[in-house]
Amino acid sequence: LNVLVIGSGGREHALAWKLSQSQLVRKIFVCPGNGGTSLEAKTENVDISPSDFPALVNFALKNEVSLVLPGPEQPLVDGVETYFRKVGILVFGPSALAARMEGSKAFSKAFMDRHNIPTAKFKVFQAHEVDHAIQYVRNCGFKVVLKASGLAAGKGVLLPETVEEAIAGLKEIMVDNVFGSAGSEVVVEELLTGPEVSVLAFSDGYTITPLPAAQDHKRIGEGDTGPNTGGMGAYAPAPVATPEVMDRIVKEVLQPTISGMRKEGFPFVGMLFTGLMVTADGPKVLEYNVRFGDPETEALVLLLDPQTDLAAVLLACAERRLDSVEVKVRPGFGVSVVLASQGYPGAYAKGKEITVGQLPADVVAFHAGTSTVDGKTVTSGGRVLCVSAYAPTIREALDAAYAGVSSITFEGKIFRRDIAHRALSAPAE
Ligand code: ATP
Repeated sequence: LNVLVIGSGGREHALAWKLSQSQLVRKIFVCPGNGGTSLEAKTENVDISPSDFPALVNFALKNEVSLVLPGPEQPLVDGVETYFRKVGILVFGPSALAARMEGSKAFSKAFMDRHNIPTAKFKVFQAHEVDHAIQYVRNCGFKVVLKASGLAAGKGVLLPETVEEAIAGLKEIMVDNVFGSAGSEVVVEELLTGPEVSVLAFSDGYTITPLPAAQDHKRIGEGDTGPNTGGMGAYAPAPVATPEVMDRIVKEVLQPTISGMRKEGFPFVGMLFTGLMVTADGPKVLEYNVRFGDPETEALVLLLDPQTDLAAVLLACAERRLDSVEVKVRPGFGVSVVLASQGYPGAYAKGKEITVGQLPADVVAFHAGTSTVDGKTVTSGGRVLCVSAYAPTIREALDAAYAGVSSITFEGKIFRRDIAHRALSAPAE
């Protein structure tokens, strides 16, 4: 089996790393990949842009690719699945219709409404309806969250403190177009409170197999301060997702989502990533993503049992027979700690040489914003590497990950020292 992985982040390196251990896999092509993906066994970087679908299909046909794994959301929302389906190549990822669950928050909210899936109260407004939106914010009787409906690279959500701030926010999105066309539709929803969890679940359109719930750390600063980033670290399982909470998530959210999508004619094949808040009234959906999360994936791949063949699982999903494979998860914890460039998520320097020393057992340094120049690995992005570790306890997993972090050097290396702080302070069972 030859696999084509689309993307260039830590998520794609983690997936290529796990796929390279598969007995089924002969070759993994990563388009375009990074400085780490090219170092894995069986793996080769291919310089094709994730948005050039005809070139990707051409390459796949010439190189006998039989499974495609798109990493990021943009190609999925733009319909990459159709391009491969037309030439008979399997894709682990949803069709453009199913990818609307991430591509349009207005769409996913209406879907949840139709299927009684618990989520925050909401109303959708078109850009020309700014006066109606302002009226709604004034009269709705709850604190609101404002969301640009389209893809905004994780930045399209505003959390205003007051009604005045909310009105100013609406004008920014709907009149000043701060999120561009992503804000041509706006979801105004009720502010929920409670701990957040992410549940990633494999699906073949019929069956779902959820992985242990993860928690990520979006803010740049320790104690969850400062601006939002693509994610500074993650860990799983998150103790807040007790067996009872997971049970409710599966029954009240995941199953109705998968069967609702199938019944409406856009079955979901791929990784369904549901962001939830565990409120006093139970789990409620904040958002759906239609692909693996980054940096959740870097923690979760280490939690997968070494016997679990990721290629076999992806293939089973694409062939609508997920129930024929076992997804075994190890007991214990997976953590990931992101190393970023000084200045990120603002401006940062590139081209700094990276050295990776000896890593402890069960620790892997996944590359994200790195590239190879004259045989040396150098920084090329804001999030540079993601150090992941597995251990039987969260404390050991963190100690191992941070030991890995200290063996990596590059100028301007920054990272958060408090990854998984919520798990460490969680009451003992
Ligand atoms: P992501 O980067 O996770 O893809 P996104 O831009 O698609 O984010 P959401 O996940 O919908 O947007 O929201 C981003 C963050 O805003 C959430 O992780 C959560 O912290 C906060 N948030 C979103 N909706 C609500 C809500 N209804 N109540 C409280 N907080 C919310």
